[in-house]
Amino acid sequence: MSSTWIVVAGDPTVGTLVETGRTIGGELVALVLGPRSTAQRVACAGVDRVVWLGEPGSAPLEAFAGAAADLVAAGRPQVVLAADRAADRVLAGAVAARTGAAALGGVRQVETVDGVVQVVRDALGGIVRERLALTGPTVLVLDGGALPDEGVPAPVEEVAVTPAGVRVVEEHPAAVGGPDLHSAHRVVAVGRGLRERGDVAIAEALAVALDGATACSRPMAEGVDFFPRDRYVGVSGQRVTPDLYLAAGISGQVQHMVGARGARIVVAINTDKDAPIFRECDYGVVGDLYEVLPALTEALGR
Ligand SMILES: Cc1cc2nc3c(=O)[nH]c(=O)nc-3n(C[C@H](O)[C@H](O)[C@H](O)COP(=O)(O)OP(=O)(O)OC[C@H]3O[C@@H](n4cnc5c(N)ncnc54)[C@H](O)[C@@H]3O)c2cc1C
Repeated sequence: MSSTWIVVAGDPTVGTLVETGRTIGGELVALVLGPRSTAQRVACAGVDRVVWLGEPGSAPLEAFAGAAADLVAAGRPQVVLAADRAADRVLAGAVAARTGAAALGGVRQVETVDGVVQVVRDALGGIVRERLALTGPTVLVLDGGALPDEGVPAPVEEVAVTPAGVRVVEEHPAAVGGPDLHSAHRVVAVGRGLRERGDVAIAEALAVALDGATACSRPMAEGVDFFPRDRYVGVSGQRVTPDLYLAAGISGQVQHMVGARGARIVVAINTDKDAPIFRECDYGVVGDLYEVLPALTEALGR
């Protein structure tokens, strides 16, 4: 039987990967690097079985890339899926190198047409979309998607492997802006409509009320440092796939919206009724974020 493999390094952002794997068909196997709890969560996400490489100990996940690639290669999958995150991309690259597969990034859609898997992906920085037919083994990197609700657990097989190449010597906590962006079901993103650094608290309060994460447009992380750089969404930043993407004070330039198009629902709040984001959202509020965000937070609190 043909198989599709999902490779997971660390956070289990696999909702879209599982849906995509089911579209392709065959046995759906997840190879998981990370703690046992991660393997157990992935096992409940709709896969047929999980291959778990055991507790990583003091080694970074990348130290398992070679061994992980060997295991995937032995399964001889036609398609391997990985989330568009730093450690997962390393793993995807190692698998492609070991198996001689083609590797495609920026994948937006996967479907089977007349028995052939076809892929739509962003090209030229997200301005163009191209369709490709897969003619051999391929590694696809796409938005991982939030972890689906718990389902029936699939079997987890532990395969002990030895890390190689590097080990962690020490770690320091870095300043980050709340929960992980990729696994958040709701994201509150703010742009240059936010005037002061201290006003970030307005977005954070709404994110807490929504049990979500905060994000921003690029100027908020690079022009000014209201947010860390791993918090901006867009073609050169993060691509997110939450159920709700609430964009306040963001004009909606294509370079930003490319990163938010995977959201199920986009809500825009902007004082300018002609802002481009109103052409890309499901719901729009023409209004001042300094009034609308606190009002939403208060209403949710009630
Ligand atoms: C090669 C390249 C790559 C890029 N990559 C990215 C990327 O990955 N991500 C990204 O975000 N950008 C990226 N950019 C920048 C992008 O083109 C835009 O400049 C940027 O997204 C604009 O950010 P913004 O919407 O916050 O700011 P602006 O475009 O200045 O928009 C601010 C908006 O806030 C509204 N506003 C003002 N006050 C309020 C208020 N009180 N309440 C509500 N609304 C208000 C205004 O009406 C306006 O629409 C890239 C650009 C280039 C050239």
